[in-house]
Amino acid sequence: MTATPPVPRAEILARAEAAYLGLALGDALGATVEFMTPREIAHHFADAGGVHREITGGGWLRLKPGQVTDDTGMALALGAAVLAHDGEITRLACARAFDAWMRSKPVDIGNTVRRNLVLFRRTGYPTAPPSEHDAGNGAAMRVLPVALATLAWSEHEVRDACRIQAHVTHNNVVSDAACEFIALAVQDFIRGASLREVYRLRMQPLVEAQPAFAFRDKPRRENPSGWVVETLQAVLQGLVNVGGFENCLVDVVNRGGDADTTGAIAGMLAGAMYGRAALPARWLKALDPATHEACVRQARQLVG
Ligand code: MN
Ligand code: MN
Repeated sequence: MTATPPVPRAEILARAEAAYLGLALGDALGATVEFMTPREIAHHFADAGGVHREITGGGWLRLKPGQVTDDTGMALALGAAVLAHDGEITRLACARAFDAWMRSKPVDIGNTVRRNLVLFRRTGYPTAPPSEHDAGNGAAMRVLPVALATLAWSEHEVRDACRIQAHVTHNNVVSDAACEFIALAVQDFIRGASLREVYRLRMQPLVEAQPAFAFRDKPRRENPSGWVVETLQAVLQGLVNVGGFENCLVDVVNRGGDADTTGAIAGMLAGAMYGRAALPARWLKALDPATHEACVRQARQLVG
């Protein structure tokens, strides 16, 4: 889609890696302040100037420093399933992978994910019933491996693949719009598109199709809930208004609310946009080593 010159393959791989590591870094950073308000965060981190900007674990999940949550966990489960099927993305493979992930006793799990995976266990049918209420961010937070595996596919095929993985737990048009937007925007950034281009080609059309997502000229979205509309508003305000990978993620997670998930989604987009060299070394050092290794390996294998 982009008018910019083609990006060398090594740079494509590095940006894919940065997107995957960005997801994990945003998850690990944001989890510390998940469900806190900006006021509580400012109070709690008063000694650090009122801003949370280090990967220290803790939070309501009492995480170890560098530990990630369901956002990264489900993405890695999805990525492994895609790789095990030679890049093919099927409902049943996704459902089995998420079900196996749920059996592994993850540190946290969303309500919609749990409900519809329990239903899959009972019925063996890998598609959740359509629901106007299932517009949580659980399908969007894990979409990255699909974006990487479908880099060479047509836009139509990418959108289909996004919905296949999403509908295992979230069969909802608002969730679909978010998943497809994230995957296509990540792909654009990996291919070297600028923020301005992605704004025009992806963000504006998203808001035109689903006006609830409007984020520009809107008040700062603080305490974003798990509703994917609020999630993306917080992420896109951070991405558009704050320059640099670190500052973008710090801005987004310090809004509180579902901060690990806004951090994760901001991390994948900003990672793809700013590239591997923009990821702070101290955050990468703090990230759980097994997670770090899995993100890098999957990113490279999924791009192929
Ligand atoms: Mn989480
Ligand atoms: Mn979350």
